Amino acid sequence: MKGFFKLALSLGLATILLAACGDKDTADSGKEGALKVVTSFTILEDIVNQIGGEYVDVHNLVPVGTDPHEYEPLPEDTKKATDADVLFYNGLNLEGGDHGWFFKMMDTVGQKDENIFELMNGVEPHYLKGESGEEHEINPHAFLDPVVGIQMAENARDALIKVDPDHQSEYEKNAENYIAKLKEIDEEYKTKIAELPEESRILVTSERAYQYMAERYGLDEAYIWEVDTEENGSPQQIKELVSFLKEREVPILFLETNVDPRPMETVSKETGINIYEDKIFSDEIGKKGEEGDTYIKFLEYNIDKIYNGLKGN
Ligand SMILES: [Zn+2]
Repeated sequence: MKGFFKLALSLGLATILLAACGDKDTADSGKEGALKVVTSFTILEDIVNQIGGEYVDVHNLVPVGTDPHEYEPLPEDTKKATDADVLFYNGLNLEGGDHGWFFKMMDTVGQKDENIFELMNGVEPHYLKGESGEEHEINPHAFLDPVVGIQMAENARDALIKVDPDHQSEYEKNAENYIAKLKEIDEEYKTKIAELPEESRILVTSERAYQYMAERYGLDEAYIWEVDTEENGSPQQIKELVSFLKEREVPILFLETNVDPRPMETVSKETGINIYEDKIFSDEIGKKGEEGDTYIKFLEYNIDKIYNGLKGN
């Protein structure tokens, strides 16, 4: 009994020590002398950490499980954004554009323009259909395309070198390794999609998030709604997808991790086409310690599921 008590006590102590170590990472002091960085959402947080390594201390704004299209910054976010040396946002309208939450926050904290970097800088925008049926609204989801990921990594590297030229060679080296991995993933997307029978090369999802990726690798896309911030899964939207699916041999439907599954379940019921057993990623990476918890793993996970689903096993 006594021995058990002692063990419990030391386990308890170990837990406290572990917790204390965990806290240290996120404490205000952060990494000694590191560049203070703020990122708007999880994918950027990971990319900047990969390239910045030990020289950056990153505070991320929109956490996993929260919509990056609309966000209400917390008091801690405002404090970190005020003190930041450099801030990264996606751009292409992800954070609601020039009048969206991110730039409102930048105004509030009085950050200088030269400290703020758009990671999608140089990426050719693709457009969503507006209510009029014309394609005029920018689709923000370019990061689902690994080739765009390379551009984002280069932008992160160049921005870090600009604000912290002392560590130029480290940033260049980290970026080189990281970009090499992204190039391998690009090859994997090409090879796997080319292996699919031509008539199976169609990606059906809830939101039209995969437009850039689909176009890059020659997949047709079909979806229930254009973008999360507008109407999601109205009877009319469902009807249109169902009638489209009746004209084609589509092997499988996909659900994203961050959407309401009910509209796609209705589509599945009405067409008799199954939904793939695993959800795929769109607006966020996986929770820490779970599948897809880095941008690289997120991209690998998606092609794995899409390939397996479309080839029919
Ligand atoms: Zn989205």
